[in-house]
Amino acid sequence: MKLIIFDLDQTLVDFISLHEETVRRLFQEEFNVDARLTAIDFSGRSLTDNVAELARANGIDGGRVLGRMDDILASYERIFSSLMPPDPSRYVLPGVRQLLQRLTEAGHLIVLYTGDSRAIADRVLSATGLGRYFKFAVYGTESKTRLEMARLAVRKAGELAGTKFSGKDIVIIGDSLRDIECARQLPALSIGVATGVHSADNLKNAGADYVFKDLIDTEKVMLAIESFQHDSIPLIKG
Ligand SMILES: [Mg+2]
Repeated sequence: MKLIIFDLDQTLVDFISLHEETVRRLFQEEFNVDARLTAIDFSGRSLTDNVAELARANGIDGGRVLGRMDDILASYERIFSSLMPPDPSRYVLPGVRQLLQRLTEAGHLIVLYTGDSRAIADRVLSATGLGRYFKFAVYGTESKTRLEMARLAVRKAGELAGTKFSGKDIVIIGDSLRDIECARQLPALSIGVATGVHSADNLKNAGADYVFKDLIDTEKVMLAIESFQHDSIPLIKG
């Protein structure tokens, strides 16, 4: 059994057009400025960091934003939810459902780590029906860095499974350089998928163990995930 840690945005789903519209409306409402998510390097970062960076990029005083972050995130969640269509299946990236199904059948422990807030991620997981594949999720608004999120996921997964996951027993799958960097530091096996803004070459150069242009070829991705066989060490109990 391996621990598979998936990123959400632009790895499993692509709601960037909704996030873009949410940012536009939010910054109009709150600060009367025309902010664009895609004008900043948003990929693989937490929603909190992105909101702060968007504020800076639009000349808004950091104190005005940080002091009201909880209210701003609540507005973000309200606007994002209002934009969610009744059937968002087309926002799920190709091959994703099949891969999650295969990983489940193979008995791997699948978890999510995302820069999104809990409300946004849960909305996405329930609307798309992807939630049932994940044992739990860790959220960017509740941790300082992606590495901290991944460490928390490893600890929680170990407790759940009664097994210590380490090294290549842990697989991180994500679309951003920050996912690859996080896997390198953890350390874990890294699989980059070029369905976001960072190119396959960028992901390769960042040191990804494997890079795919998408997750369509389930067998190839399964082979990569299961390529390093190393039995995890059971925790000594009592
Ligand atoms: Mg992502």
